[in-house]
Amino acid sequence: MRYLFVLALTASLFAAQPLSPAEEALLSPITANVLKGHISFLASDALDGRDTPSKGLDVAAEYIAAQFRRYGLEPAGDNGYFQSAAYVNVTQPAEGLEITLTSGGKTWKADKEHVMISSSGTAQIHAAGVVKVTITDENTPLPDRTAVEGKAVILIAPMPRSRAMLRKRESVLDLGPAIVVTGGFTGFGRTRLREAGETTAQRPPMITTSDPEFNTFVESLDAAATLEAAVPAPVLQPVTLKNIIATLPGSDPALKDTYILLTAHYDHIGISTRGEGDRLNNGANDDASGVATVLALAESFSKSTARPKRTLVFMTYFGEEKGLFGSRYYGSHPVFPLAKTIANLNFEHMGRTDDNEGDRSGKITASGFDYTTLGDALTEAGKATGIEAWKHAENSDAFFGRSDNQSLADSGVPAITVAVSWIFPDYHRPGDEWEKINYPNMEKEVRTCALAVERIANDSRPVKWNETNPKAEKYVEAWRKLHSAN
Ligand SMILES: [Zn+2]
Repeated sequence: MRYLFVLALTASLFAAQPLSPAEEALLSPITANVLKGHISFLASDALDGRDTPSKGLDVAAEYIAAQFRRYGLEPAGDNGYFQSAAYVNVTQPAEGLEITLTSGGKTWKADKEHVMISSSGTAQIHAAGVVKVTITDENTPLPDRTAVEGKAVILIAPMPRSRAMLRKRESVLDLGPAIVVTGGFTGFGRTRLREAGETTAQRPPMITTSDPEFNTFVESLDAAATLEAAVPAPVLQPVTLKNIIATLPGSDPALKDTYILLTAHYDHIGISTRGEGDRLNNGANDDASGVATVLALAESFSKSTARPKRTLVFMTYFGEEKGLFGSRYYGSHPVFPLAKTIANLNFEHMGRTDDNEGDRSGKITASGFDYTTLGDALTEAGKATGIEAWKHAENSDAFFGRSDNQSLADSGVPAITVAVSWIFPDYHRPGDEWEKINYPNMEKEVRTCALAVERIANDSRPVKWNETNPKAEKYVEAWRKLHSAN
């Protein structure tokens, strides 16, 4: 705490430190117009909100690969710049899906428009007995398997705001019910992604309805309540998804076999199935701005005559919005040894300055700000560019697991997500459009990142997890394991 205070004081007492001519040259290709060019294309309506999988996502992938080609970077995928990942897209057909709940002489029927799938599966159920299971938090005890097996479960549970709560809800499926029906919006639409070859146990379907009448109806279920259901089998469609990976080999004979990953997710959430007016979620700040940051860094480092000592890896991920799929895929299929990967700077929400909590111009933050020495690197770089690096009292810790840095951190690689804002007015809404980005500010933010990366890449001391921060403890453990195994 004191250390950070001293740095902040130093920053305010002295004017920006001068850059060396080599640093000036490195930063000069990063301009507001370069960033605007990338974001306005990636977030255009033509790409349909870059859902995973979709044609729009594939077009974005081609665009990113084309830029890497233009910068003359080395491809590091299995198919040029593409790291191909075999997935199965599981779709639950709405046609033929019927659920009827009968209690006290009244019935409630599922309405197809208000149904989402939380777990896909098939079921033909006639007059099944109904058991109500209420979960208030992740520690709520579940009923015995004998009380649930073969029955229709009506699950009463709050919206899952954490992975633990999501797992808790899904654990009801392991008790062997015939079907689980629940309220609230917690599904994944009618499609889900799954890695090909992943063996999934045959599970019953979990159907989520947004119909408010469902909640009222299930408040007073009688003991003789029954459920009829027809849930058609899910349709499985094999898809090839792509991470896009390019490298700039390091210049130092000893350090070039160490890697710094500069990453962002290029997918977004596609087109909403309901809502008035514009339903196309452009995803300009989330996360075309992060991709534009990776591209601008790739361009500036590839043009620089002073090549960094360590190897830089520029990578963009698919499927973040569906659950960190692209980064998890890379984490389990790394192209470069994780033990030699000294850091990952992931970029999100780099463009908007109109954060819900106020103006963020001139400031840069990160998740896990003080989990690693990377926060210090941003602070130092910001002194030269006039950008103040800061830790958000709640969000810097709370958002650590909410982006792709988590996938690398789990393996022990020091990994943070750098951002300008956390939540902004159009977050995950159609209004997240490229015109709303603060480009002159973004130019300074990305230059700050370039400077931080350049210094890390030329520093023979490795990036470290902060051993004095209890929140980083499990990552320190993972780091030790990673380095003892190699
Ligand atoms: Zn995002």
